[in-house]
Order: sequence, then C-alpha cells, then structure tokens
Amino acid sequence: MAEAESERHEETEAARPTHDEEEEELLPKKGATSVVWNFFGFRKADKDQKVILCKVCRGTVAAGGGNTSNLFHHLKIKHAKQYYESQKMRGAPAASKIKVAAPPLVQKSLAESFAKGTPYDKKSRRWREITEAITTHICKDMVPIYTVKKPGFRELLSTLDPRYVMPSRKHFTAVELPRLYGVP
Ligand SMILES: [Zn+2]
Repeated sequence: MAEAESERHEETEAARPTHDEEEEELLPKKGATSVVWNFFGFRKADKDQKVILCKVCRGTVAAGGGNTSNLFHHLKIKHAKQYYESQKMRGAPAASKIKVAAPPLVQKSLAESFAKGTPYDKKSRRWREITEAITTHICKDMVPIYTVKKPGFRELLSTLDPRYVMPSRKHFTAVELPRLYGVP
C-alpha cells in the first residue's frame, strides 16, 4: 500500500511540466546561419528542432522551411530591443554588401589588389614610376586632378597593375604636381 502510493507520487512528479523545464536553457538551432537565431532556440527534448521558442518570452514561433522572416517579425512586434540588436548584427555584413554594390569597380579592384599580391611600398621604384606617369598624364593631357578619384580611372590602374595603390588627390596636388614642375 505504501509502495503504491510512492510510485504514484513519482509518476505525477515526472508527468508535470516542471518549473525547471521552463527555465531550461534553449539549445541553438543546428546549422543556423541567421543572426536571428541568437534570440530563438529549442528544448533539449525537441530533437528535430521543430518547436521554435523565443528566448525572451518563451513563446513559440512558427517558421517553416528555415524561413527566418517570421522570427524577425516576432522580435519586431514583441521585443523592440532585441529586434534592434538583431538588425545591428545583421547590419554589419549587410552594410559592407551595400558598399560593394555602390562603387563596384573600386571595391573589386581593391579586393583584387590584395588577392594578387601585396601593394607596392611607396618608396619602391615601381610605385614612383606609376605615380609619376599619372602626374604626367594629368599635366600633359590637362585632365582635371579629380580624375584620380574616378572609379574608371582607378579600375584602369588596378587592371594594369593590381599592386599599385594610388595616393590621394591631395598628395598629387601637394607633392607630385609641384615635383613635376620642379617647384622646390
Ligand atoms: Zn518573444
């Protein structure tokens, strides 16, 4: 009689979703790629990771097929602070993507210059040669000095020699042009 009672007692203990379970740390999504998964997780018991739980409110969120927009939406409408954080985290790589898209030629040539070798030292003969050639081009052909900032021109140079990194427009005005004209 006493035995049966204690058994029953154990049973009810096990069946009841305990307070501990609610507090349980959620497991991160396997193979997660989106920053939004920082704010969602799964119970250990949920082996297939089917029930997405919000770490903030512990509410379940439906997001089929790895679609994270519902998760972002949940943060957006329920947890402004976390949503802001998620956007900040997401913003880091996204911002650089936008940068690449804006002046594609310059960005590409920069990446290429690193891929094809270390940039020339500014004291090297080759660097001087090219810089002087640009200065000569500016003077002889009477092209505006801001040409050195134009993406097409920069692309031309990086195609000819990816290791050459052009100095600033200011450097041409302050140093290279006076030097070409023999101004002390
Ligand atoms: Zn939530």
